Amino acid sequence: MARRLDLHWTREAGRALEAVLLPRRCASCHGVLTWEEREWCGPCAFCLTRCPTDPRLRFDEPENWDHGWAWLRNGPDRLESRLVHSLKYGVRSEVGVRLGRAMAREWLPLGILPAHWTVVPIPLHRRKQRQRGFNQSEALARGWAEVTGMTIADVLIRPRSGRSLTRLNRHQRIRRTQGLYAPDPNLDPTWMDGVEGCLLLDDVVTTGSTLASARDALTSVWKGPIGFITLLDAIR
Ligand SMILES: [Zn+2]
Repeated sequence: MARRLDLHWTREAGRALEAVLLPRRCASCHGVLTWEEREWCGPCAFCLTRCPTDPRLRFDEPENWDHGWAWLRNGPDRLESRLVHSLKYGVRSEVGVRLGRAMAREWLPLGILPAHWTVVPIPLHRRKQRQRGFNQSEALARGWAEVTGMTIADVLIRPRSGRSLTRLNRHQRIRRTQGLYAPDPNLDPTWMDGVEGCLLLDDVVTTGSTLASARDALTSVWKGPIGFITLLDAIR
């Protein structure tokens, strides 16, 4: 345990040092940021391509989802995928919180859901989260909750680890993601007090198999409406 803590602080100290010594770079185009630019630069903020379609349409039964929304899709320069890459593998989890806020600021005026929905971040396996230092969906959820006033409920866990799904086709993904998530057995049952709906939050939706698997796990403890939000719709 002590070693694990040491490791954690070494990594945190490394990140702090890196932030001081290296120029801050745009999470999207990797250009050097000016002092007034936060995680991504002005030109990138201007160029990011919004997702115009309903991401629920990729599911066999889109009507299972009471809400579905993706903020971005890839434009010609794939700045949006690079943003997600920085979110996952960058040195600052603050990128995720800021992206969560930015998404929510554009979603909120649509006025679709009341604030008493709760956000459920897609969990990482414990080992993966320890390696990465944070869960990108949780970081997004923090920013999202700040802007929308929604609560965050860590309802799900990912009991087993698994290899990346990036190179798999739809059927392989569906097979691989079945039973990937489970409700947290230690969850305080009061999490659903006053909650009218659950909004799963993930960084990317590709085939939808991850979200479908998370939804299956959620329905074993939650019988109300379920929706999802993602930063990027990466359908090809
Ligand atoms: Zn940029």
